[in-house]
Amino acid sequence: MKRQFLDNFYHPIFEVQSGFNIGWDIAGIDETQIESLLRKPWTLDNLTFSDRIWRDKDQLVNELQTQLTQGLITGTPSNVLINNLADKLNTSKSNAARLVMTESAAIVAIAKEAVYRELEVELIRILATLDKKTSEICRKMDGIVIRIDDYKVGVTVPPFHPWCRSTTVPHFDDNVGQRAARDEGGKTYYVPNEMKYPEWKKTFVDGGDKSNLQEMDSTLKSFTEKVDSISGITPGYREVLIQRFNNGTNKAKEVFNRFVPNNSVSTGTAKGAWYSPREKRIHMNFVNDLSNKRGSGTTFFHEQGHLIDYANRASSEHISALDSTLNLDYNNLIRNTMRTAGTKRKTDAYRILGEVMRGEDRELLSSVSDILHGLSSTGNTSKIKGYYGHWDKGYWKSILPSTEAFAHLFEAQFDPARLAVLQQYFPETIKKFDDILGGLIQ
Ligand SMILES: [Zn+2]
Repeated sequence: MKRQFLDNFYHPIFEVQSGFNIGWDIAGIDETQIESLLRKPWTLDNLTFSDRIWRDKDQLVNELQTQLTQGLITGTPSNVLINNLADKLNTSKSNAARLVMTESAAIVAIAKEAVYRELEVELIRILATLDKKTSEICRKMDGIVIRIDDYKVGVTVPPFHPWCRSTTVPHFDDNVGQRAARDEGGKTYYVPNEMKYPEWKKTFVDGGDKSNLQEMDSTLKSFTEKVDSISGITPGYREVLIQRFNNGTNKAKEVFNRFVPNNSVSTGTAKGAWYSPREKRIHMNFVNDLSNKRGSGTTFFHEQGHLIDYANRASSEHISALDSTLNLDYNNLIRNTMRTAGTKRKTDAYRILGEVMRGEDRELLSSVSDILHGLSSTGNTSKIKGYYGHWDKGYWKSILPSTEAFAHLFEAQFDPARLAVLQQYFPETIKKFDDILGGLIQ
């Protein structure tokens, strides 16, 4: 079959795969299957044949079916089909053109059903071309979502009338998190946002090279499902989160998938970011986190760290374990800083560490800065004043530094550079945290 015609079928698949950033070979779409579909009776009698101008309806239907099926399969340009038909049926070109275009749209719509079923798309949305010429019926149908089981060309899906320009697209309900399932056996890949249709087709339809694409494992798939269950996440932010997750340590990935439920974020437009233990959900701002100076997506993983901490409070001693290693690391850090600076006063160490935390690496050191802020707190004030910290009065009275550290340590599992600086300042705590993560997934 000719490329142009097949594009009608591959485009919805491309829309689905690129929409979810996942791709797989679609050998499942069988061209002979489409051809046999085309050979079934498909003419939209009451829509296009009601006019009296057609003297012999049976002859017309047969002729049209033969011409159109052959024409579409061989890729004959529609103007040639129109001329042939007008000659054979002794009718005007405009009548023939109306039939050819409308019936072609109907054929595509019929074959598209097979594509949607192949992709396990359950909901389909009607998409009208809205302009001054849009018909009354298409205006009414625009945006309507139907179930695949109600798919009926000419009734629930376009073409609704001659010259109909409406079409259909797969529909995904944000809150339901429906997604296309992948064929058993084949490999699944991560499809980057910038991949356009021609490149996608070369890769997944024509069996092109996939060495530059990242293979998607079940862990990543499980993560994307959790992300897709959260409403209000833009495609760009979604991709950032997926890439960040992908860079994570294996234990942290497993812990995330085990303990983070669907719909973990209750609002993505909050002022600030916090985890509510009462609601067991996160409030944050997706737009702010996308342009986060500390790294796009760090707040998302930090707040998920809080969620995971609270989800395990009843069955794990992880907070008290972190508490003791943090104090050990902190005392060593103060002592080493004094030794290096050749001073006997702790206040010098506090000042030096504060300066480093406010220095040019302050974004990279934001977690270290906050943890030191908490560990050096005397209640309402902290001895080590970096750039990042929980500055609100009394914060460190109500929240243990180890609680905040848990979220920082978890977030850093998805960012090697941030993990490396935490390792430098809190080596024993990093070791302990690795044990804790291991314990959570046992
Ligand atoms: Zn926090």
